[in-house]
Amino acid sequence: MTQQQKASVQQAESVPLLINGEFVQSKTSEWIDVTDPATQEVLARAPVTTDEEMARAISCAEETFKTWKEVPLPERMRCLLRYQALLKEHQKELAELLSKETGKTLPDAMGDVWRGIEVVEHACSLPTLMMGETVEQVANGVDTNSLVHPLGVCAGITPFNFPAMIPLWMFPLAVGCGNTFVLKPSEQDPLTPMRLAELFHEAGFPKGTLQIVHGRKPQVDALLDHPAIKAVSFVGSVPVAQHVYRTGTYNLKRVQAMGGAKNHMVVMPDANKEQVVSQLVGASCGAAGQRCMAISVAVFVGEETRGWVDDIAKGMKQIRPGRYDDEGAAYGPMISPAAKQRAEKLLASAEEQGASLVLDGRGCSVDGYPDGNWLGPTLIDNVSTEMDCYKEEIFGPALCCMHVDTLEEAIALVNSNPYGNGTSIFTRSGAAARKYQHETEVGQVGVNLPIPVPMPFFSFTGGKGSFYGDLHAYGKQAVRFYTETRTIISRWPEEDLPGGPNMTIQLR
Ligand code: NAD
Repeated sequence: MTQQQKASVQQAESVPLLINGEFVQSKTSEWIDVTDPATQEVLARAPVTTDEEMARAISCAEETFKTWKEVPLPERMRCLLRYQALLKEHQKELAELLSKETGKTLPDAMGDVWRGIEVVEHACSLPTLMMGETVEQVANGVDTNSLVHPLGVCAGITPFNFPAMIPLWMFPLAVGCGNTFVLKPSEQDPLTPMRLAELFHEAGFPKGTLQIVHGRKPQVDALLDHPAIKAVSFVGSVPVAQHVYRTGTYNLKRVQAMGGAKNHMVVMPDANKEQVVSQLVGASCGAAGQRCMAISVAVFVGEETRGWVDDIAKGMKQIRPGRYDDEGAAYGPMISPAAKQRAEKLLASAEEQGASLVLDGRGCSVDGYPDGNWLGPTLIDNVSTEMDCYKEEIFGPALCCMHVDTLEEAIALVNSNPYGNGTSIFTRSGAAARKYQHETEVGQVGVNLPIPVPMPFFSFTGGKGSFYGDLHAYGKQAVRFYTETRTIISRWPEEDLPGGPNMTIQLR
């Protein structure tokens, strides 16, 4: 560690916990450094929340639920409307903070915040989304109506790669539905979620509706084991998603766990080549490839598309990483030295296992930032399904290229992959697109657009090994996830009318 880095550790502010509406300092002796990935400067220290603090946060959420669930829905919605306005007003400030701790370029960071704002906007329709159903006269004098109730305390565990959007997938909807919430954001970038929480209180949400705790596995496990937590939303890597789903459901909780992915883009010979090239460069390297919907595999169909790899290499050579405020940078550094080393190891394995490294991003440097976690754009050709670079999520600015003869082979390849977050096809043929969207077993399919992320009035329907659970994030499915339905069956026999049943006729 350099002298400058040592000094930054000493000056780094401690990230508070949020318990009962108060931003409080943890009593822990264990801290996690939050670093600028372009410089390794320590920006802040996040506490490893103590057992006592975890228990206090959960119990406060439990206590607040008793009163919050009674607050009329229009009042809850007005808080959401104010929150939406505040987030918009502070979008740039949030994006700057987010850029510092994630390394994302400013436009990327603005997008991260904006996509979260869109979820809050959708949450403002909760009064209609929470309507129940009624059928009159299911038997003589009997009516049935269903009512939508909040669950209680819900928890959210979020990854590093979208520190604004992903927390905003969760707590505004959950709290809007009448629940209270405990969020455990990524320990790698907790500053943005803390600022989201400040604005949440400014919007008028009462104390105790949202708690924030920090830490790693033990803190996540404490949430998964606590009987007061009724539902858990998780987004992160596949092994952790599986652990969260298994443990949470074993403890009889409702769980939605979104995991990692390997997203394929199928390129048909009749596709618009220019579009394919520019979209593939952005969809693989944008945000340093640290997106669960990044295109990490291009599947070229037919002999005619073989040469397109060279065009993609040319396109990739034109972009470079840089610090967040560098307007010429296409993307930022990777989140940590460990993430960079992991990606580099997979690139080395690709070479050893017989793939061709057309562009090798290892050894990339950025002027003025010698300590950044830089990885240059990387293009790997002749990849096959048994190679580690195909089996593992590289989660870096890297694209694997594969070649098949027919659309059927491309569909079989995509369907044999265990993950299913997103995929896309580029073609001018409606028939090919129709066949692909119909037969591919992936949760989100793009036609002539590479990253098919639905707007928040739909749900984020990643599937197969990229998702564990039944109800997906945001949209109507999230409202069902954060609520339960109660059904009232009532019988009011006419005989009970004063004067008996004939009275009814007179009344009419
Ligand atoms: P991660 O799994 O390392 O961490 C996610 C969260 O889980 C963090 O809050 C972390 O503290 C916690 N955690 C880490 N290890 C744990 C353990 N052993 N037990 C319990 N909790 C643990 O993921 P990450 O590196 O922060 O995020 C990147 C991953 O998230 C990628 O795989 C990416 O594809 C995935 N992701 C998926 C989606 C989606 O919607 N499917 C969206 C964004 C990111």
